Amino acid sequence: MSTGSPVGSHRVVSPAGALPQAADRLDPDPRIADDEVRIRVERLNLDAASYRQLHTAHGGDGDAIRADVRDIIERRGKMHNPVTGSGGMLIGTVDAVGPRSPLGLKVGQKVATLVSLTLTPLHIDDRLEQWDGRSEQVPTSGHAILFARSIAAVLPDDLPEHLALAVLDVCGAPALVRRVVARRADPATVAVIGAAGKSGSLSLAAARDAGAATVVAVVRDEIEDARLRWAHLADDIVIADATDPLRLARKVDKALDGRGADVTVVCVDVPGCEHGAILSTATGGTIIFFSMATSFSAAALGAEGLAADVEMLIGNGYVPGHAEYALDLIRGNAHLKDLFIDRVGEES
Ligand code: NAP
Repeated sequence: MSTGSPVGSHRVVSPAGALPQAADRLDPDPRIADDEVRIRVERLNLDAASYRQLHTAHGGDGDAIRADVRDIIERRGKMHNPVTGSGGMLIGTVDAVGPRSPLGLKVGQKVATLVSLTLTPLHIDDRLEQWDGRSEQVPTSGHAILFARSIAAVLPDDLPEHLALAVLDVCGAPALVRRVVARRADPATVAVIGAAGKSGSLSLAAARDAGAATVVAVVRDEIEDARLRWAHLADDIVIADATDPLRLARKVDKALDGRGADVTVVCVDVPGCEHGAILSTATGGTIIFFSMATSFSAAALGAEGLAADVEMLIGNGYVPGHAEYALDLIRGNAHLKDLFIDRVGEES
């Protein structure tokens, strides 16, 4: 192959003119262009919203989930869940580097891709037989292609691979939380919804690190409450269903002495949390919708309908320095690290 498009448009099979993320189908041909990199894939990390949707749709049947994921990859040439629109990321070993690739990767390096699987050409050659369909992490073998404008991080050697993979999957959240909290004139009050999850717990740590005045964690039940209490990542923890807007807002308000949060971070993996987040946020505050289950129309029309003067940000998975920042938070906080390990399990 000759030099490709830096954004990968030469890999789009259909529809013509689309960029890879919006494409229905990509071409995962293993022959690389001069500016591409080929990765030998070892493990996929499915996006939490995507995995939950698949789990719900198949009633938790691992074989059916596996067959569905295999079908999506084979049909689309990428892991792009057509229902949630989300993907995940992967780890593997650099297998070939085109002479014009600007990514600075070397053959043999172990890397995590930091661009979504929804735009990464992917071919699997083991029919996902190493995976039981019961977890977000998918051991597999195959190859993936990175474009000139993709990003990847060399895996650290001081953390287990599956842990690093889970951290890097959500590393955009803490970096964005740090930026938003740090730019406020006064120390902010922060509410993190879905706080015991991966992006949620990292967001709590980032809010503290950025100088938040008060950090409130919203969790689903007593089990998550106990887990988080033990980790000491928040000033207060409230138990609330994020899809129940009035109750959620009442509880956040109570924890913040009658004011909404200056910054609200939505880290749940289910739909229907937009209105609760809006009602939980103070006038002039900011909401970060990191969740892939967020509906733009529900958020925009909900805020308008509530006459809520809030800024709403879509959680961009890319913030410069995001990978190192998230890994450093994990390295620097044993409780946070234990919480993560508890969630992703020991290395399999
Ligand atoms: P996670 O680890 O599964 O955490 C989600 C948390 O939300 C869990 O603790 C879950 O509790 C909780 N939750 C679910 N339903 C709830 C409800 N009704 N009320 C209160 N809490 C509830 O997920 P994650 O990996 O952090 O991902 C979180 C979100 O970020 C997902 O939507 C994912 O797709 C998205 N994401 C976005 C980007 C981006 O670039 N913007 C990148 C990666 C991921 P249980 O465990 O008890 O269900």
